[in-house]
Amino acid sequence: MNKNSSNIMALAPNTSNKRETVCIFGTGDFGRALGHKMIQSGYPVVFGSRSTQASSLIPKDAEVLSHAEAAQKAAIIIIAIQRQHYNFLTPLAEVLHGKVLVDISNNLKINQYPESNAEYLAQLVPGAKVVKAFNTVSAWALQSGTLDASRQVFVCGDDMEAKQMVMDIVRALGLTPLDQGSLLAAQEIENYPLKLFPMWKFPILLSLGLSAFFFFYSLARDVIYPYVYENKDFSFFIAISIPNRICPILALILLALVYLPGVLAAIIQLYRGTKYRRFPDWLDKWMLCRKQLGLVALAFASLHVLYTLVIPIRSFVRWRISSRIISQALNNKTEPLNTTNAWLSDSYLALGILGFFLFVLLGITSLPSVSNNVNWREFRFVQSKLGYLTLILCTAHTLVYGGNRFLSPSSYRWYLPNAYMLCLIVPCIVLVVKFVLIFPCLDKPLTRIRQGWERNPQYSE
Ligand code: NAP
Repeated sequence: MNKNSSNIMALAPNTSNKRETVCIFGTGDFGRALGHKMIQSGYPVVFGSRSTQASSLIPKDAEVLSHAEAAQKAAIIIIAIQRQHYNFLTPLAEVLHGKVLVDISNNLKINQYPESNAEYLAQLVPGAKVVKAFNTVSAWALQSGTLDASRQVFVCGDDMEAKQMVMDIVRALGLTPLDQGSLLAAQEIENYPLKLFPMWKFPILLSLGLSAFFFFYSLARDVIYPYVYENKDFSFFIAISIPNRICPILALILLALVYLPGVLAAIIQLYRGTKYRRFPDWLDKWMLCRKQLGLVALAFASLHVLYTLVIPIRSFVRWRISSRIISQALNNKTEPLNTTNAWLSDSYLALGILGFFLFVLLGITSLPSVSNNVNWREFRFVQSKLGYLTLILCTAHTLVYGGNRFLSPSSYRWYLPNAYMLCLIVPCIVLVVKFVLIFPCLDKPLTRIRQGWERNPQYSE
């Protein structure tokens, strides 16, 4: 009988739909927004506050008590108070003993304090189980219900059971908990909302630097040179011609830079004969921002498409076509169709269209909503195989565009080659090295290394 009743007791909380009371310390913006959301999700909420007077701002179904009284009513206490006021918790240490304290605080600066706020809280109330969560969700997002931008909640803590309880609440609120490990991860989680597009920094700075370089390069070749030697004013090239030169160049270089670190990593692994040694930091960081590099490349490729679409309506282009027709009429001579040129032009356009199509496909599959719906093999197929095919098509598009102009002396102004010739260097290197790496004499050892085989195990770290 006894045994049975204890089983019934153990099952009781799971079989009833009643959720456990949650206590929130602090009736500020975040505390109120979170309290409101929790009540909507079926949690009884009790606030611990310095003032227990009723206020119209506080969700009407919630109780407001003193900190000590509120803490006694719940096993989980969410501390919706700034770190600098945490001292008031020290006298409450006894009542907080054994409770789960959820630290949601953020700082104003990265690494503002020597230890994370969550670790500081754990030091102040050593008997409590501290869990870090919710700091990347804003009060506004909780209130307005538009949680799409911040649906992920990073959770960390040393007590597995406490962490699980908090993750259950996160899920019940319609959010996605991401377990980040022990409380040591709290500093990183606290720094996260303060970082400004961390993964985008390198791709954006690189594209700005390359854009500036190719802008001045094209300006010198296509505007200043004709002005100095032929007294022609082509300054209007700055509006469309030069940007339409920079965009495809950057798209191709950045796309090649997405695949270059993978090729370098393969060479390093082959050289070391193991995959168990860390890559240099710069290579690790480069690999981590490949998706962002690819998306910036796609943005440049899309701009190139738009700029190309307006070419026929440009005044300069219309003038050039009409003056050519008039000169043929005046000379009473019609230029015959040059089939080679027609082939080159059509192939160049076809390669560009196909390359851009695959480029867009790569961009779409990198979106989390799409990549979550394909398995690892499918994702790798698209990002690696189709990625290389895109690189091959875009490189071929540029090579065919250059056609026989590569060797023509008139293409070199001030001994400078056309900008598109320069942009072929990186993609050609990547494609040639990748081609060499797929030879069985290199591919086989590389595959074995990636499966865990080591040439000199004693040297791995
Ligand atoms: P807030 O509006 O200023 O509210 C803070 C609350 O702390 C006050 O309403 C007050 O509640 C309590 N408090 C203030 N001084 C105190 C003291 N000396 N002793 C004890 N309690 C004190 O701030 P908030 O925007 O809600 O932010 C609260 C925490 O959530 C912060 O750590 C913040 O980093 C974090 N957070 C906020 C957001 C957001 O979008 N706002 C997002 C993520 C994380 P009582 O008057 O009820 O005592």
